Amino acid sequence: MESYNSFHVAQKQVLEAAKLLHLDNATIELLSWPQREFKFTLPVRMDNGTVKVFHAYRIQYNYARGPAKGGIRFHPDETVDTIRALASWMTWKTAVVDLPLGGGKGGVVCDPKTMSQRELENLSRAYIRAVAEYIGIDKDVPAPDVYTNPQTMAWMMDEYETITHRHQPGVLTDKPMQVGGTRGRRDATARGGVITVREACKILHVDPSGCYAIQGFGNAGQRAALLHQELLGGGRLVAVSDSRGAIFNPHGFNPKELVTHKLTTGSVLGFPTASVISHESLLELEVEILYPAALENAISEINAEKIKAKIVCELANGPTTPEADLILYKKGIHVIPDILASAGGVTVSYFEMVQDSYSFFWDEDLVHQRLDQKLMKAYHSVREAIKEKNVHPRLAAMVVGVARIAEACKLRGWV
Ligand code: GLU
Repeated sequence: MESYNSFHVAQKQVLEAAKLLHLDNATIELLSWPQREFKFTLPVRMDNGTVKVFHAYRIQYNYARGPAKGGIRFHPDETVDTIRALASWMTWKTAVVDLPLGGGKGGVVCDPKTMSQRELENLSRAYIRAVAEYIGIDKDVPAPDVYTNPQTMAWMMDEYETITHRHQPGVLTDKPMQVGGTRGRRDATARGGVITVREACKILHVDPSGCYAIQGFGNAGQRAALLHQELLGGGRLVAVSDSRGAIFNPHGFNPKELVTHKLTTGSVLGFPTASVISHESLLELEVEILYPAALENAISEINAEKIKAKIVCELANGPTTPEADLILYKKGIHVIPDILASAGGVTVSYFEMVQDSYSFFWDEDLVHQRLDQKLMKAYHSVREAIKEKNVHPRLAAMVVGVARIAEACKLRGWV
């Protein structure tokens, strides 16, 4: 998947922010490593009767500000270091939006595209049997991530409740609404990202009704396609991609039709009126706004110089390498970093935990309104840090997040 070690990237980002904050060595060491890591082997009975053994992880990166929080990813390329990196980013992400949560992430090395629903259910339940002891609304609260979804959460919550003999829906978030999920969670990551784009457009005088492109057409990418036009009152979606390919139409796609096509055929390829382009050229298109919404390290020093977007809104986790960050900054491209741009998902996950705790559920408008407030505030605190420290937006966001965690560690007497 990558030539970069994402965890080394994450550690470098922590160090840079820590230096700007003049943190002491013990705090830097503490924030550079996960507080707790679990590694499991999961034997799962497959449909053909054989048993397959999967390797799985749960990493609780930091819980100074609250229970660890973050998704579980099912992906063939997962390693302990990709999960460590993702867990680290969750930590700064929850802090940037000022949620009373820490950061964590889980993963299973598997290829869900080749597995049946029954095999995925068996795997999800096996994961929870292994991790049950270490999760809970006051310890660590997982959610979906790449190739996991509300159905996965429903199986996992059911297994957890079977083990504990108690009704505890808040152990996981982004559940279906019938079993303790919140309204407004499914489009929360994209909505949060589009809210930050709205703020950025105002400040930078970028026209939100210009062209936009989306790299990655999973949940976040699909929702961003729709919400961009809905929340910004316009915009022409000229290119989208998924793992199978990329398509382009200078006159713009109808986002609704494109989402329907993706959901019915499994790919964006084959959409009428589209020409096929390469994955690389999608990122290099002349657009107002580019949404990277796939995996890590899509923008590196290899292609950063060729990026022409005015605003890059990172809905994916870790799509830009540190070298690329500096290149984009020099080119005057405004990057809204992942730990801010993609924080809408975990923000509404937190709202779900709150609602599950008192078993009383909010209407959708209230979720949207509270999400908007949180993301606006976070966007402007990062904006302040950009001005104050005179650094690129990711470093500024890291400064905001790392400072909050460091303070909590200090108050607890850890350092
Ligand atoms: N997987 C999402 C993320 O990376 C959501 C995590 C959560 O809701 O806990 O932000």
